[in-house]
Amino acid sequence: MPMRFRTIVLTAALLGTALLAGCTSAPSSRATHAEAAPAESWDAFLLPTPYATIVVQPYYAAPFEPGPDVMEVLAAAMTQMTPKPVRLAEPIQLHVPRVVGKEWTTEELDAVMRAASPLDFGEYGLSDEAILEVYYLDGFGPGRSVGLEVDGRTFIFGVGIADLPPAARFEKERRTLVHEFGHAIGLVNCGIPMVTAREDVNQPCHSVARYSVMRQATVAFDQDPVEVNALNWQFDEDDIADVRTYQASFA
Ligand SMILES: [Zn+2]
Repeated sequence: MPMRFRTIVLTAALLGTALLAGCTSAPSSRATHAEAAPAESWDAFLLPTPYATIVVQPYYAAPFEPGPDVMEVLAAAMTQMTPKPVRLAEPIQLHVPRVVGKEWTTEELDAVMRAASPLDFGEYGLSDEAILEVYYLDGFGPGRSVGLEVDGRTFIFGVGIADLPPAARFEKERRTLVHEFGHAIGLVNCGIPMVTAREDVNQPCHSVARYSVMRQATVAFDQDPVEVNALNWQFDEDDIADVRTYQASFA
């Protein structure tokens, strides 16, 4: 089946402690208005039917688990984009062997999802609830990523986040969560249409806007904190305009 991988890639910078954040991704299939029912993750999360509400369901493999208050921040960002009520579900612990510094493969992540999730691929909810799955896993994602979105499911990886001081961790964790949700709702030409063109020609699905949460961060985390700081975690006016226009086209 087609799977869409978008990543924030971490690579060691000159000083070892500095981290570069970047992303790789592939264009996804595009929704069309001819579709009678929501069939993509962005429709499940943005359109009023068939799901009336959204549940955020975290899964985690100890010791990496959601930080304090960060799920509430994600929910607040989600409610910028959708009028649906967002409910936070209790995190569910996964029992996967811990390998420090592990770099997950896409096949291994697929297995984690299939074991944990009640949904099949291509399904985004149960009954009247759309489900945003958030997987907290230790180590790195494929390509040494810290975040990943796969077919409407989102991942966040512990290396580069879990060991940060609390304030820095909170900022990076929330940015990663919001960024991956942005992919799940098809932002930046990877699902819903762009009102204002801004896709990075070198990084599909990512914005060239300097302060966008959907930007591929390319500057070392500790060298240009503007790129990944507290101001750079919310959806910008272009993201919001795309969503509002898309929703209005179905109204
Ligand atoms: Zn990305």
